[in-house]
Amino acid sequence: MTTSLIDTIVPSFLSGKWLTPDNPTRITEVADPSTGEIVARVSAEGLDIAAAVDYARDIGRKNLQELTIHERSLKIKELAMYLQDHRDELNALAHKTGANKRDNFVDVDGGISTMFTISSKGRREMPNAHVVTDGEPEVFSKDGSFIGRHIYTTIPGIAVQINAFNFPVWGMLEKFAPSFIAGVPSIVKPATPTGFVTQALVRLMLESGILPEGSLQLISGSARDLLDHLDFRDHVAFTGSAQTANTLRAHENVLEGGIQFSAEADSLNAAILGTDVTEDAPEFEAYTKAVFNEMTSKAGQKCTAIRRAIVPHNLVEPFIAALSQRLESKVVPGDPRDENATMGPLVSIEQRDDVASAVQKLIDAGGEVVYGGADKLDGAFFAPTILRFDDAEAEAVHSTEAFGPVVSVIGYNEPTEAVELAAKGAGSLVASVITHDDELAALYGRGIAAYHGRVHFLDRVDAKTSTGHGSPLPHLVHGGPGRAGGGEEL
Ligand code: NAP
Repeated sequence: MTTSLIDTIVPSFLSGKWLTPDNPTRITEVADPSTGEIVARVSAEGLDIAAAVDYARDIGRKNLQELTIHERSLKIKELAMYLQDHRDELNALAHKTGANKRDNFVDVDGGISTMFTISSKGRREMPNAHVVTDGEPEVFSKDGSFIGRHIYTTIPGIAVQINAFNFPVWGMLEKFAPSFIAGVPSIVKPATPTGFVTQALVRLMLESGILPEGSLQLISGSARDLLDHLDFRDHVAFTGSAQTANTLRAHENVLEGGIQFSAEADSLNAAILGTDVTEDAPEFEAYTKAVFNEMTSKAGQKCTAIRRAIVPHNLVEPFIAALSQRLESKVVPGDPRDENATMGPLVSIEQRDDVASAVQKLIDAGGEVVYGGADKLDGAFFAPTILRFDDAEAEAVHSTEAFGPVVSVIGYNEPTEAVELAAKGAGSLVASVITHDDELAALYGRGIAAYHGRVHFLDRVDAKTSTGHGSPLPHLVHGGPGRAGGGEEL
């Protein structure tokens, strides 16, 4: 498979056929960030997107609409079982994006288990029908002959899913599965640096023979004119940077054409250590571990990763010491295929440069590097980096996302101050609160909930059972207000 991706362009699957552009003039070469070897060549030049949209509207919608919600949910379960049997292929390919075994567990296994959960919810919580009723009927006439009732039906168009580079499998499956169950055909557009993994995933899904014709199409490569072909019937689910989200949100077909647009963008997720916690309390260790995990899992390339550690002033130095020691003893940067290496590279040299420039911005704003730094490792590898901010109000620490293994530590005195600092992120996907005091938990929770899609509480009781700060759960909302995009992906 690798050889063919180097020799040819990563194919797209449109209008029922695998296609590559004829004689493209703009090709992006994708390198394995660990070895530098070119692993894929990408171009979407000249692909007939308008025809693919029509094909989804005609063939895909018709085929999906013939099935009930339960029938579609069952297909998602069958598909998840099929992918489970083929996950080694996906894991091997994902290593070429810099993802190691632990990262793939989140992306590949996480994507498949999300399908199981969504399928199960479709069958248990939704009717075996074509529409979903919302609430009880409202009775308008005394004899009950004239009533009103809300129902949910499928949107009349298609679902377009534009994904970020960091989760080529999970990111695609967690959007595709609910769209499919809702009876809406998908056109998936993965990000160029890791789209070759999504291409392999789509190929497996189509080869399974489980999907009705037209229900899934794939664009491999940049498709800047994608929204030009959509209108009020369609839904676009975007995941990526706040900057791209804003560009797409301003598209004429969104503003005036009525495309339903939902965005999951970046966010400056916070983790608050409670004022009740002492250095020898189990919560202190749980907090240190949580920040460590978020920094090192996917080398910090997670939209949910903790970017701001908000810590009582008296624990700032002990926390930095404990986190530094943990990073020092546990992080072995190296090739994702090397079982002894515990953290892979960033996805590309460009991404590494982006993170370095974000770190520089944080330094210029008053952040002091107390561990790691941009100059510590070579190639696409980035050393875990801790910055300490003496000025908790510095604007950059609440607005600059370094999309890598980087955390900023900010001190505070009173719980209300921690709440105000967390809110300065202007809307995030998730925040953690680590305290063993119920009243404090309620105070922090009430204060920050409206600024976050999810608030994760951690203490000695759930430290072992919690799935962690950064794991979106298919049962709960994934998304957040404000800067996080304002959408609800799950
Ligand atoms: P990005 O540069 O914004 O790109 C995201 C996607 O948008 C890619 O598929 C990209 O395609 C596409 N795109 C860019 N410009 C477009 C346009 N004008 N028209 C149509 N599509 C366009 O983000 P990224 O670098 O892939 O991902 C990293 C960012 O995503 C981080 O900031 C992270 O916080 C955020 N993220 C958020 C979540 C979440 O759930 N909230 C999850 C993961 C990542 P090309 O690659 O082909 O340019």
